[in-house]
Amino acid sequence: MQKLLTGLKPTGEITLGNYIGAIVPMVELQEEYESYIFIADMHAITVNQDPMELKNRIRKFIALYIACGIDPNKNIIYLQSENEYIPAISWLLECTTYYGEASRMIQFKEKSKQNANFSVGLLTYPILMAADILYCDADLVPVGIDQKQHVELARDIASRFNKMYNETFKLPKPLIKEEGIKIKDLKNPTKKMSKSEANPNGVITLLDTKEQIIKKIMSATTDSEKVIKYDMENKPGISNLMNICVSLSNETIESLEKKFAKKSYQDFKKYVADVVVKKLEKIQKRYYELINSQELDAILDKGIEKTRQIAKEKYMEMTNKMGLTRK
Ligand code: AMP
Repeated sequence: MQKLLTGLKPTGEITLGNYIGAIVPMVELQEEYESYIFIADMHAITVNQDPMELKNRIRKFIALYIACGIDPNKNIIYLQSENEYIPAISWLLECTTYYGEASRMIQFKEKSKQNANFSVGLLTYPILMAADILYCDADLVPVGIDQKQHVELARDIASRFNKMYNETFKLPKPLIKEEGIKIKDLKNPTKKMSKSEANPNGVITLLDTKEQIIKKIMSATTDSEKVIKYDMENKPGISNLMNICVSLSNETIESLEKKFAKKSYQDFKKYVADVVVKKLEKIQKRYYELINSQELDAILDKGIEKTRQIAKEKYMEMTNKMGLTRK
C-alpha cells in the first residue's frame, strides 16, 4: 500500500468550506492509502502564535478531524512537535539545500513581502516540510497547487542526498488535489468562505451552534428573483446554498430544483439550514466526546510511538552516512 502524508496547520477555525473541500476528500482517501496525518504545529509558529490559543487549537483540530471521519484505526495520527527527530532531520536536510533553492520558493517570496519582520522559519519551513515527508518515505503528498513547489523541493533534496550519501530516501510525488466545489462566503457569495474572513456572519465553522447556523443561512445573501435555479454567475448566493446542500446530503442540483420549484427562498434556506445542522450535530457530538478524553491522548500516544521510531531510524541512518558518529 502506498504511503500518503498530510499535515494540518492548526490556525484559524475549521470552516464548512474546509470540511467540504478538504476533509471529506481526506476521509475518502483513507480507504486507499496508508495515511500519516499530523498536526503541523511547528509550521504554525513561523508566524507569532499565542501559546495558550495554539495549545487549545491543537487539541481541537485533532478532535475535529477525527469527529469528521478521519479514522485512527486507518491512519497514523500524531503531533509534529512531539517527534523530536523531525527537526533534527530537518537540520541535516538544511545543510544539503542551497539558499538559492529555498529563497526561490514562491510562498516565501510572497509572504516575506507582506511582513518585513518575517522569521527565518518562513524561509526554511519548506525544508521542515521535506523532513516531514522524507522521514517516513511517503510516496504521495496531497497538496493544492500552491504547495506543489514545496513537494518538488523535497524531491530535489532527497535526490541530492541519495547521490551524495547513497540511497536513503524515497522520492515523493505531489498528489494535486482536483479543483473541487468551492464553498462561498454566505454574505459575499462571489468570494471563498475563508477562516480568515473578518465578518463571521458569512462563515460557518464546524462548532457553530444550531442557532448560529440557522441565523447565518437564513440571512445569507441571495438575489431578488424568486426562482431556485443553479446559476453560479447570476445567482451565486442561491447556487452556493445548493452546493452546500448537495455536498452534505443525497440531493442533487436537479432534485433540489425540482423539490423547490414552487417554493420560496425562505423555504429553501430552512431546508439547507436543517441539512447543515444535522450534519454538524453529528460531528459535534463526537467532538465533545473526544475533546477532553483519554481516548484522544491514546490515539496520539500510539501515533507518536510509531512515528518516533521510524524517524529515529532515518535520523540514525542519515547521521551515520554523513559521518556524524564517533564509531
Ligand atoms: P485554508 O483554510 O485556506 O488553509 O485551506 C485548507 C484546505 O481547505 C484547502 O485544501 C482548501 O482547498 C480547502 N478549503 C478552504 N476553504 C474552502 C472553501 N471555501 N471551499 C472549498 N474548499 C475550501
